[in-house]
Amino acid sequence: MELYDLHTHTTASDGSLSPAELVTHAQECGTEVLAVTDHDITDGISEAITAANDAQLTIVPGIEISVTWAHQTIHVVGLHIDRDNDELQAGIKKLQDHRVWRAEEIGRKLEKAGIPGGLEAAKRLAKGNIISRTHFAHFLVEQGHAPNMKQVFKKYLVRNKPGYVSGEWANLEDVVSWIRAAGGLAVIAHPARYQLSANKMRQMLGVFRDCGGVGIEVVSGSHTASDIQRFTHVAEYFGLYASRGSDYHGKETSYADPRRLPALPDGCRPVWTHSDWYAAS
Ligand code: AMP
Ligand code: MN
Ligand code: MN
Ligand code: MN
Repeated sequence: MELYDLHTHTTASDGSLSPAELVTHAQECGTEVLAVTDHDITDGISEAITAANDAQLTIVPGIEISVTWAHQTIHVVGLHIDRDNDELQAGIKKLQDHRVWRAEEIGRKLEKAGIPGGLEAAKRLAKGNIISRTHFAHFLVEQGHAPNMKQVFKKYLVRNKPGYVSGEWANLEDVVSWIRAAGGLAVIAHPARYQLSANKMRQMLGVFRDCGGVGIEVVSGSHTASDIQRFTHVAEYFGLYASRGSDYHGKETSYADPRRLPALPDGCRPVWTHSDWYAAS
């Protein structure tokens, strides 16, 4: 069970390792099943599959899609998606366009706050791929505006801070339907990170399950031991399958090294035991 890592990033979005480098790292960590789940894009998957071709590692084609629900950003991971699916690609294209607009806005806002050059730097760091706040964060740290990634988000890139741009991502029901249209399993990412009251969390998970969502990350690189306990119960209560993912973004930006990620607690139903998982793999 330790051998599944179902949430990781590459340079196709805001990870610092190329897909091939991520595969090498996963192998060094002893991972046997690796989902590549970049933000709102599927471009890293092919390279990962090629890199893992004759190795003891299975690549699960995945994605992490940005959702706005009740004015909050929620991330939904899709596992075993068919990346050629038109409905999925049309859906995420809108998010990719939104990211371009938002990056320009962030650049303008930072400039107003006395920090020019952010957009150009973020574009350079993103190398033509998805632009995320992570790229702006790297630039701001490089320029000495904050000592590290955690601080830079807190100071510049979250709500009410100079480089924050609010905007609408996709609708929760739509995202689940794109993932299902592409034959995938929809999983709520890192639930402990959302600023939702217990009541709102229940509401959100109810909507998610009722529109066909099947899983929730119980073990995540950003979860504490008590988060893991809490979401083991939440998963059971909602009849959701449990997922396990490091949310690895590379050495400097990771929430956790995949090697130190705990196993799913006993009593969880792992998402890889879902019948659709077998059908897709
Ligand atoms: P975006 O999807 O462009 O809004 O960027 C969100 C990404 O920023 C997340 O996926 C994380 O990789 C990163 N991020 C968000 N908050 C933090 C934080 N406090 N520290 C480090 N990285 C963060
Ligand atoms: Mn990220
Ligand atoms: Mn996320
Ligand atoms: Mn992620």
